[in-house]
Amino acid sequence: MAAELAQFSFELFPPRTPEGVGKLPNIAAALAAVQPKYFSVTYGAGGSDQDGTYDTVVKVVERTGIEAAPHLTCVGSSRDKIATLLDRYKAAGVKRIVALRGDLPATAMGTGAPGDFHYANELVSFIRERHGDAFQLEVAAYPEMHPQARNPETDFDAFRRKVDAGAHAAITQYFFVADAYFDFIERCAKANISIPVIAGIMPITNHAQLTRFSAACGADIPRYVRLRLEQLQDDKPALLDFGLDVVTRLCESVLKGGAPGIHFYTLNQVEPTMRLWKNLGLPVPH
Ligand code: FAD
Repeated sequence: MAAELAQFSFELFPPRTPEGVGKLPNIAAALAAVQPKYFSVTYGAGGSDQDGTYDTVVKVVERTGIEAAPHLTCVGSSRDKIATLLDRYKAAGVKRIVALRGDLPATAMGTGAPGDFHYANELVSFIRERHGDAFQLEVAAYPEMHPQARNPETDFDAFRRKVDAGAHAAITQYFFVADAYFDFIERCAKANISIPVIAGIMPITNHAQLTRFSAACGADIPRYVRLRLEQLQDDKPALLDFGLDVVTRLCESVLKGGAPGIHFYTLNQVEPTMRLWKNLGLPVPH
C-alpha cells in the first residue's frame, strides 16, 4: 500500500517513575505532531499495573486529542475484573483495545495464562459477547512464530481462532526480516483471513536491549545487523544512524509490499520514531 494510504500508530508504556510520568505528556505531544491514527498503551509488561495503563490512556487523550487504546491481557485476571475494566474504559470513551494473553513467567512456558482466560481468543470472544462492536479489537500476530508455540502451524491456528472470535485487525510482533511478514500475509490470504495485519516496527537504538528483547520474543536479528550493532555498541550516534538505515529500508519494503500500516514500538522515545518518520518521507503537518 502506498505510504500515504497506510495507517500509523504509536505504542507507549505507562511510565514507572515520577520522572517518567512527568515527561510523558511532552513525549505524547511531540509524537502527536505527526497525527498518528492512535496511540496504544501497554499493560503488565515490565510490571505496570492496570491503573498505570488507564491513567496513561486518559492523559494521552487529554494532552493530544488523539485516540488511545489500552492493551488488555488475560494473565492473572478474572472475568469480573475484566468486565469492570471494560466498563471503565467504555465510560472513558475508549473505542479500541489491544487484546492479548500477556507475557508469562519463563517457568510457565507452553501453557495458558493463569486466570479465567487462558488464551487471547477467549478474551476477544468475551469482549465481543459483552460489547459487540463497541471496541475495535486488535490482536497480536507472529510472522516468526510466537516463541512458546509448538510449531508455525499450531501458532497460525491460534491466530485464526482470534480472528474467528472477532478480532478486527492484528499488529505483528516486531521483525527485521520483511519476508517473514510477507510470508505471514500470504498464509492469511490462503486461509481467507482478510483483517488488516499491521506491521509492528521497533526502531533500533540499543544493542544490549534489542538483543535481550529479541531473544525473548523470537525476533530474528539478521547476522549482518547483529555484527554491525555489536561493533557499534560503544558509538551511539553511529549505532543510531545504522539502525535508522536498516529500519527505514524495512519500513519501505513492507509498505511497498502492501502493508496496510505500521505500528511503531516507540519505547516512550520521540527521536528514533520521528527520524524514521522523516526518513520515510511521511507528512509532518506544520
Ligand atoms: P495468544 O494468541 O493467546 O497465544 C499465546 C501462545 O499460546 C502462542 O504460543 C499460541 O500459539 C498458543 N496458543 C494459543 N491458543 C492456544 C490453545 N488453545 N492451546 C494451546 N496453545 C495455544 N504483553 C504484555 O504483557 N503486555 C502488553 O501490553 C503487550 N503488548 C503487546 C503488543 C503487541 C502488538 C504484541 C505483538 C505483543 C504484546 N505483548 C504484550 C506480548 C504478548 O502478550 C506475548 O507475546 C504473549 O506471550 C502472547 O500473547 P498473545 O495475545 O499473542 O497470545
